Amino acid sequence: MKAIIIGAGIGGLSAAIALRNAGLEVVIYEQASAIKEVGAGLSLWPNATKALEKLGLGPALRQISVPQADGGIHDWRGSIITAASTDFIEREFGAPVIIAHRAELLAMLTDAADGIPMHIAARLKHYQQDGKQVTAVFENGQRDTADLLIGSDGIKSVVRNQMLGSTTPPRYAGYTAWRAIANFDYPADATYWGESWGQGARFGLAPVSKGRVYWFAVLNAPENKTKPAEGHKAYLLKHFGNWHHPITDLINATDESVILHNDIYDIEPLTHWTDGHVALLGDAAHAMTPNLGQGACQAMEDAVVLGSAVQATKNIESALELYQAKRIERANGIVTQSRRIGQVGQLSNPLVCWLRDNLFRSLPEGIRNRQIAAVVGHEV
Ligand SMILES: Cc1cc2nc3c(=O)[nH]c(=O)nc-3n(C[C@H](O)[C@H](O)[C@H](O)COP(=O)(O)OP(=O)(O)OC[C@H]3O[C@@H](n4cnc5c(N)ncnc54)[C@H](O)[C@@H]3O)c2cc1C
Repeated sequence: MKAIIIGAGIGGLSAAIALRNAGLEVVIYEQASAIKEVGAGLSLWPNATKALEKLGLGPALRQISVPQADGGIHDWRGSIITAASTDFIEREFGAPVIIAHRAELLAMLTDAADGIPMHIAARLKHYQQDGKQVTAVFENGQRDTADLLIGSDGIKSVVRNQMLGSTTPPRYAGYTAWRAIANFDYPADATYWGESWGQGARFGLAPVSKGRVYWFAVLNAPENKTKPAEGHKAYLLKHFGNWHHPITDLINATDESVILHNDIYDIEPLTHWTDGHVALLGDAAHAMTPNLGQGACQAMEDAVVLGSAVQATKNIESALELYQAKRIERANGIVTQSRRIGQVGQLSNPLVCWLRDNLFRSLPEGIRNRQIAAVVGHEV
């Protein structure tokens, strides 16, 4: 059996590896002229690190990651709101939480996909199917036919738009975000890791391998309007310059040219991800806001389940239906939860923020742990 994968992002590459491991012939098509990721960090929670283990990538993952430091949610002055122990997470869920450099993670997946033919500069135009096979038609005139096609073509998925018969425009979340990785000296026992909440503003920071720190900053803003004339660094120092240590030093230590800036979007949860011999995967199926750090983690879960479903039944339509049945409710739930936690984190009224911080501080540990377990304790 043969599978066509559209898109060589984290989702597409994970799916390609899972289907190759399931014994299929796999071909990847990517619209860009090179396979690359941005220079930012990515949190991989136990649900994802276990999924990567199942794809046979445990040893490779350990080479690009360092054990995470304890962290939590702080207020903007640095006082703790809720603590998160990485030891607890590893003990409780049987796998560590990792912050990987995106480019290194993509290189790891590309290496693992070695041997799988990959066509670059090939943008899918549409697909056609006849009940037995599916043909991908590309803008450059290429065509390819297979038993199944996986649309892992991201938040603006061409496959999804054709499948649903209408466009599903990304929904703006109401906030805009900056991300970067900085070379930064920090004490091994630093207690500031995690995310800090202000009023309509958040800042997160986490150690990455090789003495680097990944940070992100989030501000409420109208869509597509944040274009600071003074440059991103000066703009961020204006908004976060009085936040707790080491936020100012970290922004100052970052080269302006490596700061990435994006408005934040998700898609409305979908009612189906399959159409005959075609299925959606990753952001194409469930693009979510990054508040739970789960978008890529969910794509990895998708890949493992897809591989097992195809192995369990060689009838493609049944396999894709099984894949959807096992995945859609969970992924949609996380889309909704991510959006909600973002709304809470981005509250801006000072009194409401004070109440929020104190409510989270007083949340019993058992309830907090159950909430964490529901997201990161899942095993595919
Ligand atoms: C600010 C931010 C922070 C985040 N942090 C985290 C985090 O900490 N942890 C986490 O798990 N997730 C995080 N995410 C989410 C994560 O980045 C995404 O969920 C993940 O990258 C999705 O991978 P994907 O392969 O599904 O899609 P993409 O990465 O978008 O890849 C899609 C690929 O398809 C290609 N493509 C598109 N259209 C076509 C076409 N027509 N033909 C051929 N190729 C096509 C694209 O060029 C691209 O290479 C974050 C997201 C953002 C925005």
